[in-house]
Amino acid sequence: MNKPNAIPKVGFVSLGCPKATVDSEHILTRLRAEGYLISSSYQDADLVVVNTCGFIDSAVEESLDAIGEALAENGKVIVTGCLGAKGDVVKQAHPRVLAVTGPHAADEVMEVVHQHLPKPHDPYMDLVPAQGIRLTPKHYAYLKISEGCNHRCTFCIIPSLRGDLVSRPVGDVMQEAQNLVNAGVQELLVISQDTSAYGVDVKYRTGFWGGKPLRTRMTELAAALGELGVWVRLHYVYPYPHVDEVIPLMAQGKILPYLDIPFQHANQRILKLMKRPGNSDNVLARIKQWREICTELVLRSTFIVGFPGETEEEFEELLDFIEEAQLDRVGAFAYSPVDGAIANDLPDHVPPEVQQERLARLMWLQEEISEEKLKLKIGKTMTVLVDTVDEEGAIARSFADAPEIDGQVYIKDGSHLNVGDKVKVVITDSDTHDLWGELV
Ligand code: SF4
Repeated sequence: MNKPNAIPKVGFVSLGCPKATVDSEHILTRLRAEGYLISSSYQDADLVVVNTCGFIDSAVEESLDAIGEALAENGKVIVTGCLGAKGDVVKQAHPRVLAVTGPHAADEVMEVVHQHLPKPHDPYMDLVPAQGIRLTPKHYAYLKISEGCNHRCTFCIIPSLRGDLVSRPVGDVMQEAQNLVNAGVQELLVISQDTSAYGVDVKYRTGFWGGKPLRTRMTELAAALGELGVWVRLHYVYPYPHVDEVIPLMAQGKILPYLDIPFQHANQRILKLMKRPGNSDNVLARIKQWREICTELVLRSTFIVGFPGETEEEFEELLDFIEEAQLDRVGAFAYSPVDGAIANDLPDHVPPEVQQERLARLMWLQEEISEEKLKLKIGKTMTVLVDTVDEEGAIARSFADAPEIDGQVYIKDGSHLNVGDKVKVVITDSDTHDLWGELV
């Protein structure tokens, strides 16, 4: 524990998705800005903040375990994040926690920190770099553009945890992006709950960036980010019609030709039960059009199988869609009844063994598609961004791979490279998810 008058130290445990990581970064930045030190061990910290995830049952368990561990090892614990929004769950399991806040609550967390660990006198001891404190490696960074969501997908409880959409001012987002680029970031990953809704809450208000007006809107933001000279990757793009507008930016090389667009299903009845938009014929026609405009376009999507009431025919319709759409990257999940989700009350839940069987069939089909698509890259030259380097070579990603969720490009003759380098490789081999290449 800290000696009297020493600089107070805060331990930090960050769990959950990239959006939670950004929340953690904001809190860490505030702590450092006020002069607190960040401790990497429980024993050395004066108190511990645990940023939790409450999305699915296994995440709830992991979060509760992490809180328990922090209490046992340190004793003074503040809980924030998505599980924090379910305050009772935390308090019931761990009545000794100092406070529980919801997600996106840097102000509240700081207030509790001030109560239990008063601010140090000299805030100039630890000046924060302009780009803030980041938990992702220095060559890529997540850029959160909004919080919350106006949709009410029946399988999801995020709106009840995080509230309706609140877009960050476009000037602030651009300033953060510029700071990150100035600090050496090579790739910006734009995230939110619903990236294509950016600005809806402020009626696409016109803000300012670099002395020029800029609308709070996805297309305009993507175009402005595209001017910063680094890779810009769009995540969690809800399939609104105006998504079509960003495809030309991709074709022009302004932003990466990569679209992470969760379709969730292809059958009209299931989509309606999920309260999701879309009709698979329209979606297929749009995908075709997008690929005509931008031939390199890589599509990532996620799907839920075994949604309540899903029949074998409806599931097969989804398989047909996947076969036809030839998506590059697919994440699929068996429906899991998240506490509080409306879909739990729907009739005819699909038995777990049927869900697992459908999930395996879908993934098997997608693996075949992915393998075939990656084979076509052999012999091509690609620019890749280096993520890790050791004596065996380098591991990098191309525009087609988002960090942590997509594939990788292994470069055998790359052990002299540096993390964050962008290099050209010629692709020599492939498997289901990854590529191998040699430096050009
Ligand atoms: S759009 Fe995403 S965050 Fe919003 S309710 Fe649907 S699944 Fe949840």
